[in-house]
Amino acid sequence: MGTSIRVFSPPPALISSSKFLLPSTLSVSSSRAYKTSSRKLCSHVIRSSKFGNFLDLKPELQPEYLNFDLPWFEPASDRSRFDVIIIGTGPAGLRLAEQLSRYGIKVCCVDPSPLSMWPNNYGVWVDEFESLGLEDCFDKIWPTTCVYINESRTKHLNRRYGRVSRKKLKTKLMEGCISNGVIKFHKAKVWKIEHQEFESSILCDDGNELKASLVVDASGFASTFVEYDKRRNHGYQIAHGILVEVDDHPFYLDKMVLMDWRDSHLGNEPDLRVSNSRFPTFLYAMPFDSNLIFLEETSLVSRPVLSYMEVKRRMVARLRHLGIRVRRVLEDEKCLIPMGGPLPRIPQNVMAIGGTSGVVHPSTGYMVARIMALAPVLANAIAECLGSTRMIRGQPLYHRVWNGLWPLERRYTREFYSFGMETLLKLDLEGTRRFFDAFFYLDPYQWQGFLSSRLSFQELVLLSLSLFEHASNPSRFDIVTKCPVPLAKMVGNLAREAI
Ligand SMILES: Cc1cc2nc3c(=O)[nH]c(=O)nc-3n(C[C@H](O)[C@H](O)[C@H](O)COP(=O)(O)OP(=O)(O)OC[C@H]3O[C@@H](n4cnc5c(N)ncnc54)[C@H](O)[C@@H]3O)c2cc1C
Repeated sequence: MGTSIRVFSPPPALISSSKFLLPSTLSVSSSRAYKTSSRKLCSHVIRSSKFGNFLDLKPELQPEYLNFDLPWFEPASDRSRFDVIIIGTGPAGLRLAEQLSRYGIKVCCVDPSPLSMWPNNYGVWVDEFESLGLEDCFDKIWPTTCVYINESRTKHLNRRYGRVSRKKLKTKLMEGCISNGVIKFHKAKVWKIEHQEFESSILCDDGNELKASLVVDASGFASTFVEYDKRRNHGYQIAHGILVEVDDHPFYLDKMVLMDWRDSHLGNEPDLRVSNSRFPTFLYAMPFDSNLIFLEETSLVSRPVLSYMEVKRRMVARLRHLGIRVRRVLEDEKCLIPMGGPLPRIPQNVMAIGGTSGVVHPSTGYMVARIMALAPVLANAIAECLGSTRMIRGQPLYHRVWNGLWPLERRYTREFYSFGMETLLKLDLEGTRRFFDAFFYLDPYQWQGFLSSRLSFQELVLLSLSLFEHASNPSRFDIVTKCPVPLAKMVGNLAREAI
């Protein structure tokens, strides 16, 4: 569903990775620290009235392609039968292919444009990538992050955040695929999948038919290949992102702005202010230098989805207020991420990974780091069935791979994260501010673990208790009045999973 269309690799001089080691602690800024930044803001506000609407500017950068000599599938000479076919070479499909190739499993990756650069702008916590050996796949690292709760309260988080280098990550995964000599690529769109007892076949838009013991759908959120047996009642994250050249901006260069919940920019926009109070959006900002910045106005989660035009109008008002004058839009992206909702039917004949498999974090919309970590788990489950010594196919194979990706414990924790999403859906701007104020006051092990999907079910229960303990009285009131329905839903779903 990501409809972003431009790719940009900032010049190395603009994105030198700053690698500072910081203790994993957290602090709340004093009002003095805020005053410094608000003084900086004022100088911009004076100039803001003459600033135009950046929405009129067209993104300037052209799509980029990797320069690789790929091993293509040759219909005339190659056997059209593989162990595994992967539909889609986004981060999920390519990571799985790379992992499977390590086991010598014969894979064909099918995508309309395997060499295109991924269009989305990805951000992850640096420690998540480091633990996977992907520390060389960043464009830029910020030593700290911050969250503006409101005009007078800012939280500084001592956790490094990075902008993923799409080029470095895709190159690394492609090289891994190629070096093991068992992967083929086919440039086509898959139209249809058919299943026989022990194998499946795909029909491509170029007329080719390929067969494999297992087809894995990694074609993203818009996939229609995976089936559900429950109503798909997910929430949506919607955002408008722009990589822009600006005259100046008010953000610190060594801090990534994870969330800016301030709303003073809506002072002269009563309609927008009212809707923002009920369905709030925040600004996410990655300052590369004083003239280059990625900005994204984001609705964390809404159901039904907040209007895209509304998100853009709020962003225009915010940038005007912050005094950010856009000179050039280098790239833009529409971000629409379905979150939470039921998992696909488990098991089913098509395996899924990535956006279509339910692994997106239901409370945050993040997925890239998680998929990098889960693809090896799925690859291992596939290798146990299709590797050189075992030959498990058909229903036992589907059963093992789906349960490999979604063992019971992981389904339980997902229910908990979905409970988080259902709670966020009920909060207005003030409630959301109070929630994050308490959330980032938690022990770093807890908030970091929550954001990185690392906590066990028991740890999540403990986190909820600590959250309640640290919450302000109005926030406790929110929890007591707004959580019972989502809580009851979660308990019902857990009971169903357990049966
Ligand atoms: C704009 C945007 C920004 C995001 N930012 C972040 C972020 O900062 N951090 C984070 O963790 N997550 C982020 N996400 C969420 C998630 O990580 C991404 O959506 C991620 O790209 C999903 O990866 P994927 O491989 O599952 O699917 P995709 O990246 O969507 O890749 C799917 C691939 O399948 C191909 N395909 C589709 N249909 C077919 C077909 N029928 N036949 C063959 N090939 C097909 C497509 O061409 C594409 O190459 C973002 C999402 C969006 C939309």
